[in-house]
Amino acid sequence: MAERWSLGRALRGMFVRPQIDENTWDELETALITADFGPDITEAVIEDLREKVARYGTTDPADLQRMLRESLEERFARFDTTLKLTERPAVVLVVGVNGVGKTTTIGKFAHFLRRYGRSIVVGAADTFRAAAVDQLATWAERGGAAIVRPQHEGQDPASVAFQTISYAKETGTEIVLVDTAGRLHTKGGLMDELTKIRRVIEKQAPISEVLLVLDATTGQNGVKQAEAFLQHAGVTGLVITKLDGSAKGGFVLSVQERTGIPVKLLGQGEGIGDLTGFTPHVFVEQLVS
Ligand code: GDP
Repeated sequence: MAERWSLGRALRGMFVRPQIDENTWDELETALITADFGPDITEAVIEDLREKVARYGTTDPADLQRMLRESLEERFARFDTTLKLTERPAVVLVVGVNGVGKTTTIGKFAHFLRRYGRSIVVGAADTFRAAAVDQLATWAERGGAAIVRPQHEGQDPASVAFQTISYAKETGTEIVLVDTAGRLHTKGGLMDELTKIRRVIEKQAPISEVLLVLDATTGQNGVKQAEAFLQHAGVTGLVITKLDGSAKGGFVLSVQERTGIPVKLLGQGEGIGDLTGFTPHVFVEQLVS
């Protein structure tokens, strides 16, 4: 699975060369740009590695591979990627543009948390389309979560969020995942809606995480589309989906640096089990190997 977004193939030629030379740097640059690290990180990493290679006086490509791993790990280490779910109930708001994989992610996340023995309720606060609520209900069920649905189409999303948290408190459910709308053409209205949801939730319980779901295959364009969420939704973590269909593993680092927000979960497939926590060390290992 990792093979798709791993730099392995792109780097292999470089690391079997007898010596580091100018071609090595060109190939490294191409590999990093192709993997969507973006020009700034690519330039900074190469500059860092050139400086280290000069300092240690090495010409061995194996040293370069190790230094690349270290350099990427250092950059990843600037972010705290752990999920903060210690409150009871822990309330997680899930936001993002339609089509990025938000519904699927909620089901997968419920499943992921169930494996740690947590009880979960999903709040269907995207109340606009009944079909979307049904789809969410299917995923919630697959993930082993309860669901609080709107009582009628178009019910105030904040009131659904309110009812979901009330349900969690009454039943002792540990984690609340609140789905929200992602219709971009009503951007202003959507941000007002999210602000209201947050305000209503915070009257009952603190919000532990606001997770913005981004699709790796749309890369930087997807981040641009999600700009309004980044500015107004109080995002605390990113979920990167569809990494399995993408050759763009570098997006995970570039999006963190561009937004200043840590990546907390990775979606790597359409199945219920295809969501993992984000462990930078493991990720870099897979990326560079
Ligand atoms: P939403 O509109 O944001 O709620 O998006 P959905 O959850 O309905 O997902 C949209 C499409 O993306 C569906 O076909 C999902 O199966 C697919 N999808 C979601 N996450 C992933 C992932 O990690 N990998 C792949 N390959 N497909 C995904």
